[in-house]
Amino acid sequence: VKVFYDPNMAATGTTFDTTRKAEQIAKSLADQPIDDVDVAVIHPSILALTENLIAQVHDLAYVRAVVTGRPDWLAASSGLAWDDGIYRMAVAHCAAVVAAVADAVESGLTGGALSSGLHHARSDHGKGYCTFSGLAIAAWWVRLNHPDIRVGILDVDAHFGGGTRQIIEHMVDVHQVDVSTNRYDRYEHRDALLAPVSGYLPVVDAAITTVLSHHPDIVICNMGVDPFDDGVTPEVLAERDRLVAHRFDTVEVPAVFTLAGGYCSDRLDMDGLVGLHRATIAAFANP
Ligand SMILES: [Zn+2]
Repeated sequence: VKVFYDPNMAATGTTFDTTRKAEQIAKSLADQPIDDVDVAVIHPSILALTENLIAQVHDLAYVRAVVTGRPDWLAASSGLAWDDGIYRMAVAHCAAVVAAVADAVESGLTGGALSSGLHHARSDHGKGYCTFSGLAIAAWWVRLNHPDIRVGILDVDAHFGGGTRQIIEHMVDVHQVDVSTNRYDRYEHRDALLAPVSGYLPVVDAAITTVLSHHPDIVICNMGVDPFDDGVTPEVLAERDRLVAHRFDTVEVPAVFTLAGGYCSDRLDMDGLVGLHRATIAAFANP
């Protein structure tokens, strides 16, 4: 699989896992490659295209605030302190998703993006360390360029993707199913499921079935490893990743994965965090 990455993903002075870990994972993939995984650079034309898509999906006043830093309350609404690298950083994360989705649509193959900080962003402000919604932006690219293609979104990050939900609400043929272990950013929807840690995998399995019931031609999987913080073990997370990759592979629906949440803590150092995300990448590379 191709895994899209751009050094600008870390282009901010703000030290935070969401913006730093992509760099660490890219470095890890160079030092210790995973079979059938190639780190792909994002073409400048995709970065330019993504800026355009951001301006269509997000309110102009918000985009302008992220570019200029003013007003500060809006520029820093994601929770990340504003600096002049934030916009480039957020564009790079979204562009990786757009590049991976475009590649998957064109090749019919599974792929990925070392992106995070996406699913809480609203059209008119940031939230939960998410600046722009790469998931909704990539779905919007499909809507504009391939109106015959149906998009499924499976969000298994620990937190709910209330931002994606808000933005895709007005898009046709884009269906999201959300499995969370944490109530943050919860919203009312029949496909927004709070899973118990003890019975996590059956809920994920049922969610995949629901995604497939909408007959998607491509799925975007937001594969946060932060259910770890709610008590899901690394073994169960790895099993989840294999389940997701395998089920979409079995029915030949190309899947694009994003890293999403995953945080260092006193129980998880950066190497441990990189290891959890590497398990996701390995699962999609060898489904
Ligand atoms: Zn999360």
